[in-house]
Order: sequence, then structure tokens, then C-alpha cells
Amino acid sequence: MAKKVIFLDRDGTLNIDHGYVNEAKQWQWIDGAIDACKRLQDAGYALAIVTNQSGIAQGMYTVEQMHKLHQYMNAEFEARGVHIAMIAYCPHARNQTDCDCRKPKIGMANQIEAKIGDIDYANSWIVGDKEADLLFGKTAGTHAALIRSKYWEEGKLSAQPDLIVDSLKQATDSILSSRA
Ligand SMILES: [Mg+2]
Ligand SMILES: [Zn+2]
Repeated sequence: MAKKVIFLDRDGTLNIDHGYVNEAKQWQWIDGAIDACKRLQDAGYALAIVTNQSGIAQGMYTVEQMHKLHQYMNAEFEARGVHIAMIAYCPHARNQTDCDCRKPKIGMANQIEAKIGDIDYANSWIVGDKEADLLFGKTAGTHAALIRSKYWEEGKLSAQPDLIVDSLKQATDSILSSRA
């Protein structure tokens, strides 16, 4: 059976977006993020992270440094009983022509589907804090919850999110109550 997936943006959704976060000492969980992931998992969603990491292409940090940070993140998730099915990342620069994975493109969704099997996009969600997250969801055919942030303004979006929220926790409350 096709899986329902919560596609999770990373910076600004799971952790505070300090800009090009690339080591554990810069990692600060957003309040309630891990608990929200647990509730979504318990409700039957697979969890997958989709993160643009152009800092790699810019030489600000290496893929290995990113993986090390993700090991740290994953250990914290696992300690709380949360399993992340896949962490997909785009290491490319903003305008790199040989990239099909930088959000709003949906290459990372295809990578995740190749790993975990068929995805029930119509019953899946993206949760993120940028318009690129919203558009990723629109193209992939998921619902989209857009977190309020400095990166976008209401009225200037090129697509309509299903939810506008302050946090992953709030998105989770709505996602889970709408299907109760
Ligand atoms: Mg973000
Ligand atoms: Zn890419």
C-alpha cells in the first residue's frame, strides 16, 4: 500500500534557522518539534526530511559535516522513538543547471519514493517555512503547511497553502484533527 509521508523541511521547521547550520553546536530544536514528529509517526505517517543545502556547493561546509550533523539529529530523534525514513538533501547551488533536487523541484521526493516505495501524495504533507517548500508540495501533489517566517509574506505567495501555521507543532495539531 502506498505510504502517507510527512515531508519535513529542516532549517526553520525542525531547528532554528541560524543560516547555514552545519554543526551540532548550532543545532537548536524548535520547541515541540520532536514531539510533533512522534505524533505524526504514531498516526501512521512515514517521516522524511527534504533539505536544501546549498552551503555545500558554496564550500561553506562539506557533505561529511552535514552527515555528521544529521547523525546527531537522528540520535536525538531515535532517543525519543522517532524514526526518519530518509534524509534527502540537495547539495547544489541555487542556479545549478544539473540539479533536479533543489526545492521547489521535487527530485528529493523521487529519491524518497525510490527508497521507501510508493507514496500516497494526495494524503501526504509538506511542512516548511519557505515558498519553495509550498511549491514543492504543489508540484508533488501533497498538502502543504507553511510556517510563518521572514522568508515570505501573505498575499505575495504564488500558490495557496492548505495551512498557515506558526510551527510544526501547530501544523501537526491541524493535520491530526482534520483526519480524526
Ligand atoms: Mg526552512
Ligand atoms: Zn540539487
